[in-house]
Amino acid sequence: MDFLDKKIEFLKGVGPKRAELLNKELGIFTFSDLLNHFPFRYEDRSVFYQIIQLNEQLPYVQIKGVITRLETVGEGRKKRLHAYFSDTTGEMTLVWFKGLQWVEKKLKVGEQYLVFGKPAKFGRLYSIAHPDFEPLTAQQSVKAGLQPVYHTTEKLKSGFVDSKAIGRMMRQLVEQGVNHIEETLPAALIEQYKLIPRQHAVIQAHFPNDSQALAKAQARLKFEELFLIQLRLHSIKNKRKVAFSGQVFGKLSTLNEFYKEHLPFDLTGAQKRVIKEVFADVKSGKQMNRLLQGDVGSGKTIVAFICMLMAIDNGAQACMMAPTEILAQQHYHGLKEFADAIGVSISILTGSSKKSERKVIDETLRDGSLKIIVGTHALIEDKVDFKNLGLCVIDEQHRFGVAQRAKLWQKQSVAHPHVLVMTATPIPRTLAMTLYGDLDVSVIDELPPGRKPIETVHYYETNRLRVFGFLQKQIDLGRQVYIVYPLIEESEKLDYNNLMDGYESVCRAFPKIPISIVHGKMKPADKDFEMQRFVKGETKIMVATTVIEVGVNVPNASVMVVENAEKFGLSQLHQLRGRVGRGADQSFCLLISSFKLSKDGKTRLETMVRTNNGFEIADVDLKLRGPGDIEGTQQSGILDLKFADIARDAKILQEAKYCAERVLEEDPTLGLEKNAGLLKQIRKIRKEKGLNWGRIS
Ligand code: ADP
Ligand code: MG
Repeated sequence: MDFLDKKIEFLKGVGPKRAELLNKELGIFTFSDLLNHFPFRYEDRSVFYQIIQLNEQLPYVQIKGVITRLETVGEGRKKRLHAYFSDTTGEMTLVWFKGLQWVEKKLKVGEQYLVFGKPAKFGRLYSIAHPDFEPLTAQQSVKAGLQPVYHTTEKLKSGFVDSKAIGRMMRQLVEQGVNHIEETLPAALIEQYKLIPRQHAVIQAHFPNDSQALAKAQARLKFEELFLIQLRLHSIKNKRKVAFSGQVFGKLSTLNEFYKEHLPFDLTGAQKRVIKEVFADVKSGKQMNRLLQGDVGSGKTIVAFICMLMAIDNGAQACMMAPTEILAQQHYHGLKEFADAIGVSISILTGSSKKSERKVIDETLRDGSLKIIVGTHALIEDKVDFKNLGLCVIDEQHRFGVAQRAKLWQKQSVAHPHVLVMTATPIPRTLAMTLYGDLDVSVIDELPPGRKPIETVHYYETNRLRVFGFLQKQIDLGRQVYIVYPLIEESEKLDYNNLMDGYESVCRAFPKIPISIVHGKMKPADKDFEMQRFVKGETKIMVATTVIEVGVNVPNASVMVVENAEKFGLSQLHQLRGRVGRGADQSFCLLISSFKLSKDGKTRLETMVRTNNGFEIADVDLKLRGPGDIEGTQQSGILDLKFADIARDAKILQEAKYCAERVLEEDPTLGLEKNAGLLKQIRKIRKEKGLNWGRIS
């Protein structure tokens, strides 16, 4: 057995009791698990402060001084221990609210201590609550450095396994185990990217000599982390290309007819290019797994439809899956227009489909007479059987989650359906590279001609009358207007009141103008009725909650007003803005917010005003929120990165991807001796994740 595979209870100073705590609380079972429990931050113990230098802006400080007096103040639960602490420049206090007896025993008046904590000012003196402290020794006053701080839990702490205790275990382990830390990366790679050996990196990440050494260790570990992910993704992609055959769609009769007779507009160069890329895939005999990225309004619907025709022309069926019912409805209407023109059968299946409708759909899907089905998750329920599913278009797939994609795959056992994943708004390149690294990518990077860029303006709510004045003018010009209110699920009632208040004030401001209102509490039929009135131009203003985000396409609507705009996320705002600017008129997006804006809120609104480019907006979004908060990334499991940060480490990611491709090009199965460390590591990760990615995506 490898030294590092030993059970954690056999590490000196751990024992069965603490081992159990480590198992339960942190998932640490083996020496290796502990070694991979890296500090989440470091405290800089290389600098000493004097009391006179303190200010409240300082994070953690370290001070050498003498305890001059101890006193207990207050009674009962308010009892506190104050220690007066001085150096040659001044006096401060150290305060404890808990564990007073224990602290009191440890502190001796007249002795020198090294204390550590965050200073705050109370009255005349600075003070640190619950500081770290230890008696000052000659050694400490000379040498110090970055101290690791390890994540622990309350239970661990009460079992005396605090960050310091973990640090002590780690020192033990590192001393005994240093020679067992194996290199994973091939020597040539280490050389080329000037990386430090894994052994050094691991040690320095726990106990850095200084900040430079720490940076080098982190760079190495980040590279390794991203590289291993890329290696797995690319090897899945490669394997799939070899292993999975796809139906061959070579005949294009209906498609050609559609092109000749029914194309409602000339396709953009980008749309044509993407269609060609897809066609090359589906006639290759290999199963397609492609991500289609395009900004709002870039015309993904018609591209999806034309791809569906490729399947239909060759005797197969196509489906489109969307994450919500409203989105599915929208796709259905969009696709139906094209399908009706050329006489291709199309239906929609969602959770609210009636039993009788469902029965017909089931039958026609099974006998193959129904060619296109649009739907929500209901589509991947086991009951739905296709005669021959040839293409599956998945919209906003990142909300679907890995398992659901896998289910879809099992629908067709002979040849897997070709898969085209679409995103509603662009996702940042780095994120795409990681989340969809196993897919080929197509980008529609061009908007249909004649679109005037939408003008976006930010107003504070005190200027609402001016906004209303502007709306009146636009309506007089014959245009239509959306006014959108936020919907936050936790406080549905509040949102509803907010929406209704807004609706009333809009009605008061525009007494002669017909107004629609649509919100989540309405019955689908009523919603549809109101929507249709707006679509037909009978109503001029549509007051709505975010349901409109994915609502119908109304080219005559040229103004989007977003109330409480600061409460929306960037991609949501961008998606909303995409509802206008679809006709020939100059369109506007008016973002209304209160004066109370968080820093991020301000950045979001500024970004919206500055740019219409969805890719740029996605980048800002990623920087603001971090990958963990971007919808859907949690389920993926790919992004629980220990070291790297997708938003900040784009350059390393790029290198890692390039490298992974080169390595696999030379050695597709990682069978070469020089890649043995890599293979071992990949196998280990695969085992730990317990998921065979090869079947997914
Ligand atoms: P999205 O990419 O956001 O799904 P849509 O497919 O809904 O975009 O297209 C947005 C609008 O642009 C639709 O009204 C569509 O008919 C129109 N459109 C798409 N492609 C073109 C084109 N090449 N020329 C003109 N209009 C187009
Ligand atoms: Mg769309």
